[in-house]
Amino acid sequence: MSANLKFDATTRQLIVPDQPEIPFIQGDGIGPEIWQAAQPVFDAAVAKTYGTQRQVKWVEVLAGQKGFEATGEYLPKATLDSLKDHLVSIKGPLTTPIGKGFRSLNVTIRHTLDLFACVRPVRYFDGTPAPVVAPEKVDMTVFRENTEDIYAGIEFKADSPEATELKNFLTQTQQISKVRFPETSAFGIKPVSDEGTARLVIAAVDYALAQGLHKVTLVHKGNIMKFTEGGFKNWGYAAIEKHFSQPDVLTQLQYDQIAQEQGAAAADQAQAAAKVFVNDRLPDNFLQQILLHPEDYQVIATLNLNGDYISDALAAQVGGIGIAPGANINYDTGHAVFEATHGSAPDFAGQNKLNPSSLLLSGAMLFDYLGWQPVAQRIRAAIATAVAAKHVTWDFAQQLSDATELGTKEFGAYLCDCI
Ligand code: NAD
Repeated sequence: MSANLKFDATTRQLIVPDQPEIPFIQGDGIGPEIWQAAQPVFDAAVAKTYGTQRQVKWVEVLAGQKGFEATGEYLPKATLDSLKDHLVSIKGPLTTPIGKGFRSLNVTIRHTLDLFACVRPVRYFDGTPAPVVAPEKVDMTVFRENTEDIYAGIEFKADSPEATELKNFLTQTQQISKVRFPETSAFGIKPVSDEGTARLVIAAVDYALAQGLHKVTLVHKGNIMKFTEGGFKNWGYAAIEKHFSQPDVLTQLQYDQIAQEQGAAAADQAQAAAKVFVNDRLPDNFLQQILLHPEDYQVIATLNLNGDYISDALAAQVGGIGIAPGANINYDTGHAVFEATHGSAPDFAGQNKLNPSSLLLSGAMLFDYLGWQPVAQRIRAAIATAVAAKHVTWDFAQQLSDATELGTKEFGAYLCDCI
C-alpha cells in the first residue's frame, strides 16, 4: 500500500514508508521528455536495490502549460496542496509565462512552501567535456538562501508614486545624495534577516557534519552592503557559534580569538581538532577562487543572488547545465522540491535531444533525502558509466570525439541497462 511521507518535527526526521507516494511535475518545453527518460531509471534503481520491498508511486500533478490547459491556472491550488501534503516532490522545468507582473512559478512554489535552502551539489563526471583544465577539482555543494535578498521581488518602477515616496523618505533620512540620478531611478529592496540567515547557515553546517566535510564558507559582499550582506556574515557566524560547539565546529572568528589570546599554534590545534571549519569570502574573490583553487572549498552558504551566480558558474566549470541538479528544502518542516536546475529549453522541445541528467541527479538527491542512499548511488554510477563510455546526449556528443550520440529517451534506456 502506498502512503505519504511524514515528518517528525521533534527529531527532524522524515518517516518514509516502503511505498511512498511522490508527486512529480513534468514541466514545460523539454520537461516531459526528460521526465519520461528519467522515471524508468529511478524505478530500475529502486527495483535493483530493494526488489519488490520498496517502490515509489509517482503521482503526476499539473503545472505550467499542462496545468493551464486542464484548469485555466498555471499553478493550480490542487498542485500546491499536493506538494504540501506529500512533503517531497520532483519537477521538471517550468516556463515563466510572459505577462505583466507574472511571478515565476518556481519562485511561487519556493515561497509557498518556505523552501529556504536551495541546495546545489556540483561535481565532475569523468569524461564530461569541460572548459577548465582540472574540472575534477570541483566538488562543492552550494546552500543558496532561497527566500530573501533582492529576489524577494520588492521593486518600485522609476517615476511611480511608490518610488516618489521612497525618495521622500531618503530625503528625510539624508540619504538622497547617495542616489546619483534620483529623478529617474527605479528602486529595489533587499531584505536579509537574522532568522533567515541562521536557518540557512545551520543547514549548511549540519550538511557538512553529516557528509564528513571539513569546510563551510560564507560568501557575502559585507564590505559594501554592511547591514544586509554584512548582516549575513555576522548573523551567520553568531548562529553557528550558538548552535554548534567546539571542538566540532570552529569559526574563523573563534580561530582569530584563540590566536590572539593563546598564539597561532593553539589556534591551529583547535582547527585541526574541528570537524568543520567555517570561514568567509567576498563573492568577487570567491569567483576567482573557484577557478584558481576549487579544491579549497566544500560547502558554500550564501545569499540568494550570489548563490544564483555561483551555482551557474560552478555548473559551467564541470561541463554545464545539463548535469546540474538541485533541491529546494525546508529543513524545519521536511518539505522539499527536487528539480532540474535548467529551464524548459523551448527551442529543443520535442526533439529528443537534450540531457536528462540534471533531473536524474536531482532524483538521486531525492533518494538521498529519503535515506535510500544505495538508490542514489546507482543512479550516479550509471551516469558516470555512460559518460565514461561516451554514450551521451547531443549536448555532450557535439563536444567529444568518437562519442555515441543517444536521444534523450535512448540515453535513459542505456542508463537502465547500466543500473
Ligand atoms: P534554459 O535553461 O531553458 O535553456 C538555455 C540553454 O541551456 C538551452 O538552449 C540549451 O542549450 C541548454 N540546456 C538547457 N537544458 C538543457 C539540458 N537538459 N541538456 C543540455 N542542455 C540544456 O534557459 P532559458 O532559455 O533562459 O529559459 C527558458 C524558460 O525556462 C524560461 O521561461 C525561464 O523562465 C524558464 N526557466 C525555468 C527554470 C526552472 O523551472 N527551474 C529555470 C530557469 C529558467
